[in-house]
Amino acid sequence: MKEEVGKLQIAAETWRPERVLEWAFDTFGNSVAISSAFGLEGMALIDMASRVRQSFRLFTLDTEFLFPETYNLMDQVEQRYRITIERIYPLSSPEEQERVYGPALWQRNPDQCCNLRKVEPLRRKLGELKAWITSIRRDQTAARAGAGKVEWDRNFVLVKINPIADWSSKQVWQYIREHDVPYNALHDRNYPSIGCTHCTRAVRPGEQDPRAGRWSGSSKTECGLHILQPPDNPPERDA
Ligand code: SF4
Repeated sequence: MKEEVGKLQIAAETWRPERVLEWAFDTFGNSVAISSAFGLEGMALIDMASRVRQSFRLFTLDTEFLFPETYNLMDQVEQRYRITIERIYPLSSPEEQERVYGPALWQRNPDQCCNLRKVEPLRRKLGELKAWITSIRRDQTAARAGAGKVEWDRNFVLVKINPIADWSSKQVWQYIREHDVPYNALHDRNYPSIGCTHCTRAVRPGEQDPRAGRWSGSSKTECGLHILQPPDNPPERDA
């Protein structure tokens, strides 16, 4: 599959997001799923997928530290699109994590906390899939700048599909408004990017970066799900 993706990659860059989704569903069937944290981009993508297919797989990494508004939106998604979100949990509850690693790990070692609560659960989930679909955009962070619409994911060793990689934030909002897509109530309260409660705050007046409220006060910009590993020592799995 890795070789096929390599051949397709350039052509896929000219495809509209709906065509990318169609290709993904046709090619991988039940072995592809959308991964979402229900941000604006994710909501646009879920709505688009619902117009391409009546049913599709959708999973989320529930760190158990999400905002009530996010859980509320998840309920709305299930009702509106008549799907059941596959909720993936960390191996340890928040209480077990505190017992083993001490209190407030997210303050002392956010990378370790993200590894336990996001990266390991994602790796576990992706182990049962041949491809995953994300709503990342290239202009969100430096780590996402090189994302292709269809690419081989060296980190997790499967196909990664990013149908709106070339969209701007403006295009996402336009889609949301045109299709009356529900979105997280926090977006209207100066939270352009929403993650866990412990690591997300509202963006303050004068802050230009929409992700300024994520891991504020630290240099961390990503939870580790979309950071490319150098090509030298990729983990191996049958392609
Ligand atoms: S975003 Fe914060 S609380 Fe959530 S998993 Fe990462 S470090 Fe932990």
